[in-house]
Amino acid sequence: MRARVLVICLLFSLAILSPWAGLSSSDDPFARARKRMVEVDIKGRGIKDRRVLRAMGSVPRHLFVEEYLRREAYADYPLPIGEGQTISQPYVVALMTELLELKPDDRVLEIGTGSGYQAAVLAEIVKEVYTIEIRKGLFEKVKRRLKDLGYHSIKVKHGDGYFGWEEYAPFDAIIVTAAANHIPPPLLKQLKEGGRLVIPLGSTRYFQTLTRITMVKGEPIVEHITSVRFVPMIGRMGSATPHD
Ligand code: SAH
Repeated sequence: MRARVLVICLLFSLAILSPWAGLSSSDDPFARARKRMVEVDIKGRGIKDRRVLRAMGSVPRHLFVEEYLRREAYADYPLPIGEGQTISQPYVVALMTELLELKPDDRVLEIGTGSGYQAAVLAEIVKEVYTIEIRKGLFEKVKRRLKDLGYHSIKVKHGDGYFGWEEYAPFDAIIVTAAANHIPPPLLKQLKEGGRLVIPLGSTRYFQTLTRITMVKGEPIVEHITSVRFVPMIGRMGSATPHD
């Protein structure tokens, strides 16, 4: 009897002292990892926009990657999402979102839905998010995921984002999350006066220049921000075609 009590006490104290104590009963076992990501990798590297910090502190990034990668979801590097594509590293998502200078009533277009994570971050900040994915397999998967997670304000389309989404244009902000060797003219046309377009521009596979274009009195004002590395945009932009 005494031995049994001793074993129970021992297990109880182990549970309290364990590094996972307090997390096992929580609804979100990744809350601590996400908080660290926001504090250290995002705020710590200079991102100040409160809306961006709040959005990235609430989107469950681990649910946008495959189950076997969940424990790495909050590390500051990109992860594979299938078909040779990647979910961008958290800092780059934060930087691009901050550069869009979003306001709650903005209408935003994303090119390259991928895992849907960037779209979910946008949806935490603005009312209307439109996103286009060219790969059928990724499109089907992300459509289901966004529905299951309750992101009903995000409209997803299968198609070539090079041509934008005429039906819902013009947009206050457009974000391209695949590398482009030039700015697609249809995207510039679909940008409102005062609108912002953020796009990785460059013709090599290894790095591109993150670029922001702001439409001022009908003229695009160009700013070069920093070097980034994205998977290439396909379809009309490149010679490659989607394999579905
Ligand atoms: N924003 C994504 C990551 C983007 S990875 C996320 O948060 O997970 C780049 C994505 O762009 C890939 O899914 C790729 O299939 C898609 N893509 C490439 N060329 C495209 C095009 N012309 N139109 C739309 N999507 C494109």
